[in-house]
Amino acid sequence: MTTHIPREADWDQAPGLLEGAMDLELTAQQCNLRYWLQAVPQGTLRGRPDGHDPALKVGEHMKKGPFFDALTQEYSFRALAEEKATRVLSFLVANAPDNDTMEFYSTQLLDECRHSMIFRNHLLSLGIPEHRLVQAVDEFASPYRETVLVPLEDRCLEVMRDNRDFIGGVVMMTIILEGALAPAAELSERKWRPINPAAAEIDKGAGIDEIRHLTVGADVGRRHLLAHPEDKDRVVEMIREGMNMWDELPTHQMVYDREVRFQEGLTQYADLVGDYEIWPGRRLLDTTPQERQDTADQWSDDMKEKRLKYMGLEEALV
Ligand code: FE
Ligand code: FE
Repeated sequence: MTTHIPREADWDQAPGLLEGAMDLELTAQQCNLRYWLQAVPQGTLRGRPDGHDPALKVGEHMKKGPFFDALTQEYSFRALAEEKATRVLSFLVANAPDNDTMEFYSTQLLDECRHSMIFRNHLLSLGIPEHRLVQAVDEFASPYRETVLVPLEDRCLEVMRDNRDFIGGVVMMTIILEGALAPAAELSERKWRPINPAAAEIDKGAGIDEIRHLTVGADVGRRHLLAHPEDKDRVVEMIREGMNMWDELPTHQMVYDREVRFQEGLTQYADLVGDYEIWPGRRLLDTTPQERQDTADQWSDDMKEKRLKYMGLEEALV
């Protein structure tokens, strides 16, 4: 008996994150628990318990110096972000209005918990000893833990836990949190590909999950607002507030600092990268920290715009 693996969750056939999140339409009815059991543990994850092909080993150039700094900072921050996402998603599970959304958010909760574990554990491959892992994650992720993650978490807890606002929480996750972070993950996959293929596979796998989270989240929001147009003004206000919050957080500085360290690694290990193109027609070696960051920001804006229109919330854009 063979298991049916849907194309969007198949390791070799799934579209890239940007393309998938922009063009696919998936619903909670489709992506219920039964779908997930076949598509993810037996599909995307098959043979990759640590998020990558076990045959891919991390090179010595990753274990110290600028690439080590760039990746440990990035993955530590993402491990903590995914951990916080897991915890707040429990309130979407608790407040889900029907079985399909309850099942879908249970699977998303497990996906984010797994992402957190995989980002954290990759630090072991970079040479961090196991007994120091938790402490190392905290150290590498500071100071942005307090200045970026805690304010976002507090806002999520207010909406999802204190106000038990299911649809507010869905839109918050889809537009403000995942929508803003997903393009950074796409950038990560592309830039680490020739330097640390294990990390590129980790990002690719997380991206496949993210296609599902973004498209189903948008569909849940869209359906809810069609059935409850009276909630629209409140949700638009919440998105505007969330986007303003994002503008005030020091995320740009955080990403820029990491890109600068990454650039130092590029200079030091140019031979590893060669003529590899980060996007068609553009060699990674010729890019700058600012250019990479601007490109991810552009992707983020494009995705946000497209998804807001899909949900009938384009008013939030002005
Ligand atoms: Fe995630
Ligand atoms: Fe996600």
